[in-house]
Parts: sequence; structure tokens; C-alpha cells
Amino acid sequence: MEAEVEALSRKLLEAAQRREPITLSPEWWQEQLLAWATDDPAFRVKLLRFVDVLPSLRSAAAVADHIRQYFREDAPAIVHLGAELSRPPFFRPVVSRLVRESVFAMAHRFIAGATPREAAPRLRDLAREGVGYTVDLLGEATLSEAEADAYAARYRELLQDLSQSPGPDGPLWRGVPAVNVSIKLSSLYSQFQPAAPERVSEAVRGRLVPLLTLARERGAFVNVDMEQYVYKDLVRRVFADAVRDPRLRDWPDAGIVVQAYLRGAEADIDALRVLAESRGAPITVRLVKGAYWEEERIVADQNEWPVPVYEEKEETDASFERCTDRLLAAWPHLRAAFGTHNPRSIAQAMVKSRAAGLEREVEFQTLFGMAETLRAAVAEEGFRTRVYVPIGAVIPGMAYLVRRLLENTSNQSWFAQTTLHGEGKAAPPPPPEPPPPPLAPRGAGFRNTPPAEFHKPAVREEMQRALARVRASFPLRQPLLLGGQRASGREENEVRYPADPSLLLGRVARASAEDADRAVASARGAFGEWGRRPVRERAEVLRRAASIVERRRFDLAALMVYESGKPWAEADGDVVEACDYLRYYAAEAERLQEPQGMGRVLGEDNLYVREPRGVAAVIAPWNFPLAIITGMTAAALATGNSAILKPAEQAPLIAGRLVEILREAGCPPEAVQYLPGRGEEAGRALVEHPGVDVIAFTGSKDVGLSIVQAAAPVRPGQRSVKRVIAEMGGKNAVIVDEDADLDQAVAGVVTSAFGYAGQKCSACSRLIVVGSAYEETAGRLAAAVESLIVGPPHEPSTFVPPLIEAEAQARVLRYVEEGRRTARLLVQGRRPAGEGYYVAPAVFVDVQPHDALARDEIFGPVLTVFRAPDMDAALALALDSEYALTGGLYSRNPRNIERVRREFRVGNLYVNRKTTGAIVGRQPFGGLGLSGVGDKAGGPDYLLQFLEPRVISENTTRRGFAPEEADKRRGAAL
Ligand code: NAD
Repeated sequence: MEAEVEALSRKLLEAAQRREPITLSPEWWQEQLLAWATDDPAFRVKLLRFVDVLPSLRSAAAVADHIRQYFREDAPAIVHLGAELSRPPFFRPVVSRLVRESVFAMAHRFIAGATPREAAPRLRDLAREGVGYTVDLLGEATLSEAEADAYAARYRELLQDLSQSPGPDGPLWRGVPAVNVSIKLSSLYSQFQPAAPERVSEAVRGRLVPLLTLARERGAFVNVDMEQYVYKDLVRRVFADAVRDPRLRDWPDAGIVVQAYLRGAEADIDALRVLAESRGAPITVRLVKGAYWEEERIVADQNEWPVPVYEEKEETDASFERCTDRLLAAWPHLRAAFGTHNPRSIAQAMVKSRAAGLEREVEFQTLFGMAETLRAAVAEEGFRTRVYVPIGAVIPGMAYLVRRLLENTSNQSWFAQTTLHGEGKAAPPPPPEPPPPPLAPRGAGFRNTPPAEFHKPAVREEMQRALARVRASFPLRQPLLLGGQRASGREENEVRYPADPSLLLGRVARASAEDADRAVASARGAFGEWGRRPVRERAEVLRRAASIVERRRFDLAALMVYESGKPWAEADGDVVEACDYLRYYAAEAERLQEPQGMGRVLGEDNLYVREPRGVAAVIAPWNFPLAIITGMTAAALATGNSAILKPAEQAPLIAGRLVEILREAGCPPEAVQYLPGRGEEAGRALVEHPGVDVIAFTGSKDVGLSIVQAAAPVRPGQRSVKRVIAEMGGKNAVIVDEDADLDQAVAGVVTSAFGYAGQKCSACSRLIVVGSAYEETAGRLAAAVESLIVGPPHEPSTFVPPLIEAEAQARVLRYVEEGRRTARLLVQGRRPAGEGYYVAPAVFVDVQPHDALARDEIFGPVLTVFRAPDMDAALALALDSEYALTGGLYSRNPRNIERVRREFRVGNLYVNRKTTGAIVGRQPFGGLGLSGVGDKAGGPDYLLQFLEPRVISENTTRRGFAPEEADKRRGAAL
């Protein structure tokens, strides 16, 4: 069989390489551009980025400007010339038109038309040639329920329109539906959340099942496409629920994709076989290699998740062949469609289908505008062929076009191997890349903890079990942890579930000023012993604590779901960040506390050492109830200080867990103590205590500034000037530029503004939209906000949880009321009934820059939107705040990006991404202005604040003679 496959592959390859004679036609230009892009990675990036931004450019001047910016340097000579030509205003409209037309022409090579009607002639041509089609409707990302409805309506029309056009004829097509459409399920629901498959399935089926029943009535076939890996199980789940629906159980014309580049592809086929057998009607499987290869690797890398795809092309090819065997063996339950342009992959599927006697039952699919001679050769062999035909406007279709271009110009692609360099011959090596800027030390051996993969069923089940376990443990009783004592017998604070205040979570002893005295006395005693331990020993304790936190991650996350009202992913993110702080600061302390020699002269020994300051008071907020308190505590402990933890009144339970874990890991009880209580009582007592040397505070501006003041006077018995670290609030702005990708911008702003109900210091609370992008941004944003799920955080589908407490709810509602009077409410979502402290997410426009809505940190789900005529005005608005914590920009204009990077001076600036979710060691975090004093948390300088440097200089000469040992010692240290 192998010889047969080899011979057939060669034949197909020859067919694939057969091409039209080259002329200076538009096609020639396209080929040339693609060839340049294949050979020159830097040009490839620019070309892809340019193609990506082009449709959103709303004027000739904007097109000309972008051409110049993208291609002024490092572009093939002819492209460079075009860039120069676009400089004089006279030429701009001409160049702009030419470029638009050629990119649109390139798009039309891969996209059959803007509407089904426009594409109809092309479908008819295919039918005449005896080729089938499957139509895919391109579109923007679905961010709202209105957009999901519109999508479903477009598919309904598509099914109706297509039933007018004839399909191919002939014996191969007997019994095969002429109309064939492909659909992405994420387009049918705006809250496509993998952690909540039941709810998503129900919502998607609300739109999908009517489409499928319509298809059935019309004799059409529907194929469900596969998307990114995180959606795989969800898509499969919805598909399975839909085809088991009583109206569709026996319908044989439904199909789904299997991606061979996934490591689990064969198991996917087995599962589909089980599904087909159990429902009693066949399912078609389109076997492809997979279209998100680069994205999957990026996502895995950024999350420290295992890479779900094969990383070598050969492995994917081999998987494709194994999947072919599996698929053919599953006949008649599974019917096979092979979607690939690789001659070898096609040849093996042909030979194997023939051997199984299934050559009339399988089909081969290629993408519209590609591999046409290859497809003809497959048809000549007597197989059914079908073309995957995208239809849609170019703007929303750009993502598709960019993916195709990526595929066509990547060095691994079939196109590069067969068309440009001949099969088997490697592409020329890319030119050497400029060296990347040096990376700041990230702590030796430090790696971020991967977030939980809630898209996996087993992980969701663990979280559900933890929620049940933790809920069963309520109400808890939490004493103070002072030295070795568990001190109760105090007045107690109650902690309740923000989504259901009738649920009492626990009673927590309230520390008094005298308790603070006791804690400080005990901490001072411990300071010597803990601080004198070798830094490596302390670091080990912290690493052990990180491992314990990681082992109990779901229980800790579940406790935060109840205590702080954090939705699943937010609670998990909080745990992950806590692990990161423990490990990162352990590594950082080892780096910083290595004694250093200074200077290089003979006869002198200079040593620079960093020692702990003493006793640290850690005063924490409730909104990152584990991460932030862990960060501040780990910093104090790693460097040898003793820590007294004063958690926020609203979230003391989780902090108690942390202290217990640190002690379990080997931290002496005097070195880490737990002092829950009121800010004005226990907190203030610590701040003013003469025995406290460092105050690590995170919280609101008013409290932070009052602490800075209260820490200044030197009190009787005090031996050091207190060091205050105060991380405070924000009123963060995001600028959306005219050429921004609005799919990305609107989704990013919604997450930044309404994730955890806006209760993050980094949350976006001011959105500034530049010029012509305003209407569309505001429209899509309003619809997206209306679609958000507001609900209890223990439900995995919840996006906007209740606020932390009744007082916060009342405060935020006052802002909303005031906004209704002073500005215009663009949209307000819905809140669920019941006693939970919910505030429906709200967006205001026409807000005056001096209004409270525009200036105060509201700390709730309220967003104000401004319109700015240009980038100057946008920046002026963005900077008009006493806070300077985070900021964001969505833009694809290199000059504006450069400018905003320089001028938008905030502690953490984010470009083309959300403003929340800073990661330890990657986005060290902290603000400027009245947003904070101190070095960035999770960064290379943070620990210095907990250390006191000392220098010891020794004259090692005696009567003009310097001993060699001292020199050697110094040499070694340098
Ligand atoms: P908060 O200022 O009300 O309380 C913070 C902590 O300070 C609590 O433990 C509280 O008990 C204590 N405290 C209150 N009064 C005190 C006093 N007089 N003396 C000593 N301690 C006192 O803040 P919060 O409501 O818990 O948290 C939300 C605030 O925190 C927001 O403003 C948010 O922006 C900010 N925050 C900032 C960051 C950052 O990294 N910059 C991170 C998270 C939260």
C-alpha cells in the first residue's frame, strides 16, 4: 500500500505544481507578495498587520499614512517605492485606491463574495465543474446577543437562498445534499464560556436547532466548524446535545470537524463514533489539520499550559493518517470528508478508502481560491470534491484572510514547500533577527503557575466538588493567630455571601489595639531568629507554602467565591497569583541577599549586604484577598522580616488560611501572625506602633494617604523611620484609536470594566474613543454590556457578580443615580432578583470631565465613555486625573502606539489588550501619581523596600602588605 500511496502522492504533487504562465497580472502580484512574505519574516509580519488594519481605515489619508508607516523601511523595493509615493498628498487618493483594490482583490481570491447572492455565480461555476461547496459566513466576533441573533438570521437566509441554486450532478452526488453550509458555534452566543457548558449549550441550541431543522426541511447539510482548543469540548458538547434532539436524532446530514493537529484527535473520533452509534444516525467528520496552530502555541505559552497541538508538521501529518484509519474503520457510523491540501495526506486517504471499498462514500475538500489543479487531479481519480467557500464582507472577513495568508506564507506550509521551493527542499533560512532587548532578572528558575483549565471537564468537576465542600463547612469560626496562640474570646465580625447575605460564612475574632501590641512584641522577638536564617532556608519555606497553596487551589478559590464574591476564573487567578508571589519573591530574595563586593582596589575589602528591616505590618484590601496579602507577606518574609497580617474586614477568612499554610510550611508562628480587625482600630494601631518598621499597604487613596501621614511622626521608643509602601486606587482610561480592531477593543474594554463587577484597582472606568470609531464602538459596547450575565459567582457562567457589601452597593447606586441626572445613560444591564448586592452594569456618555463620574474611583460596574476628536484630545483626557495606575490603548497605527507609549504616563500601560490581569514577573504592578508610592509588586525592585543595605569596608593592609586571601575573596564576590 505504501508504494501505491507514494506513486499517487507524486502524481498529485505534479498536478499541484502545474500553474498558469506568469504575467504581470494582479495574480502575479499577489503571488509575488506572498513569495516575498515567505522569504522575509519581517515583511511577512508587516504585510499581515497591514492587511489586518486596512479595512478599518476610513479615509485615503489614513490608508496612505499607514502604508508609509508600515513599509517605509525593510520592504521589497517596489513596495518601498509605493510607500514613498504615498507621501505627497496629490498621490494619496491614487495610491490608496490602488492598494485597497489590490488587497480586496487578494481577499476575493479567498472570499467568494460579500453576500450569498454575489457569490452565487461562483457556486454555479463549481457545480458545473462537478464540484460541491460548503458555504461559511464570515463575520465579526459575536460580542452581544443582538449580534448572535443577526448571525442566526444570516444563516437562515443563506439556507433559503442556496436552496435556489443547483448542486453538481452525476453518480457521485446521488443522495448527497446539494446545499452544504458550515457554521461556527461561537457566533451563535455572546457568552461562549467553556466553564459553563450546560448554560452555553442551552443558549446556543436556542438558535442552532431551528437552523438545523430548517436545513433538514430544505434537504441541506450542516457542518459544525472547530475553533480554538479551549472551545473544543464545548463545541462538541453543544453539537452532541443538538443532534440528539428528538427533532434531529435520525437526521443523517449533520457533520463536525476533527483537527488532526491536536494530540487527542483519535480519541475525538472515537467519541464521535460513540455518539453516532448511540443516536442511531450517521455523522460526517471533516478531518482537517487545523487552522489555529500559531495561536494555540501562543495561548499555551502565555498560560504555561501544555501545548495541545503537535509542534512538528510531520507529527500532524502522521496523526492525520492515523485518524484516516480510525475514520474509515468507523464507517457507516462516521462518514469521512478529508480537508487538506497535502498531496501525501490526500493520496493515503484515497488509497485507504479504495482498499475499504469506500471510494464513493468519502469526499475531499479544499479551500476556495487554493490548490485548484490539485483538486482537479483528485476529481480525475474518481472522488467527490468539495470547496470550502467563505462568504462575507471584507472587513469582518479579514481575520479569515489573515489566517489564510499566514498559512500560505509560513515556512512550514504546503504552499511554501510545493510552490516556491519544491517539495522537500527547505526554505532559505530567515535573515538573522536583531537581538531582543535584555530581559530583567525574573528570579532564577521562576515559572508562573498555570491557571486552571476550566475548559476541561475534570477541572470543572474539581471546582464543583470544592465549592460543595467549602459550602458545607460554613459557618467557620476564626480566632486571631498571635504567636503560638489561637486567641478567641473577642468580639466577632460576621462574614456573609455577597450573592446571598442570609448565608453566614463565618465569625472572625476582632483584634483590638492591645492585640496589636502583643503581636508586635511577639514579632520583634522572632525577628532575630527568622531574619538570621540563611535566605535559602526562608526561600524554601515560601516555596513549600506555594506548593501547599497549589495543592489546595480549588478549596482556596472556592472560599474566595463565597467570601469575596469572585467568579470562578477570577478566584482561580487570585490563587495562581499568590503562588507566583511566593515563588518569585523566594527567588528574588536569593538574588538580592547574596553579599556583593564593591570596587576593585588592592588592600581594601568592601562588602554590600542587604538585611531585613524588622517588623512589617501588612494591611490588605478585600478585592484580591489572597494574592495581594500573600504578595506583601511573602516579600516581608523572604527578606527576613516578621509579618503581621491585617486583612480587610470583608475578607478575613482566606487570609487566615494563608497564615496557617505559611506556618505549616515551616514559618515560625512569631514571624507570621494574623490580626484581623477594623482598619481604624487594629490597622491604625499597627501603623502608629513604634515597633513596626515597614508598612505594606494596599487599598484606597484616602486610607493610604492617611497612613503615610500617620506613619511619619517618630513616637517614644521608635528606632527607625517607618518605610511606607502604599498601593492605592485608580481611575483608569482606555483609548480606542480610529483604526483599532473593534472586535478586540470592545471585548477587552468589557472585560476590563466589568470583570469582577469593576472591583479592581486596574479596571477601566473611562473609555475614550477617537473620531470616526465612536459610533460603532459605542453601539457594539452597549449591546455587549446588555448581554453580560449578572449573577451569583458560584455559577460558572457568571461574568458580573454582586458587589462586596451593602454599603458598596449603595455607594455605586448613588453614582448611577447622579449619572442619570448629569449625563446620559447609554445602557444598563439587568440584575437578578434577590437580596444579593447586585448593581446592573451601566455605561454613561456625555459626561462632563469635571463630574464625579469622570473623576472618582467608583469601584463598581460603571463605565463612562468620551468622544475625542483626535489623539491629542484623547491623551489630554486620559491624563486628566490625579490617579495614574493603569491605562490602555487599542490601535494599529505604529506612530500613535509609539506616542502613547511615551506620553500616557501611568504605572502600567497596556497596548491592544485588557488593562487587568497583571502577571507576576511579567507585568510588575503599581501606580504613579496618587495611585501609589512604592516599587512595583511582582517586579525586580519590590523587595528592596523591605531591606536595609549595609556596607562593610575593611582595610586589609598591614604595613603596606595586603593579604592575598582578601583579594581573592573580593575577586570571587565581584
Ligand atoms: P480600604 O482602603 O478601605 O482598606 C484597605 C485596608 O486598609 C483594609 O485592611 C482596611 O481595614 C485598612 N484600613 C482602613 N482604614 C485604616 C486606617 N485608618 N489605618 C490603617 N488601616 C486602615 O480599601 P479596600 O476597600 O479594602 O480596597 C479597595 C481599594 O484598594 C480601591 O481603592 C482599590 O483601587 C485599591 N487597590 C489598589 C491596588 C493596587 O495595587 N494599587 C490593588 C487592589 C486594591
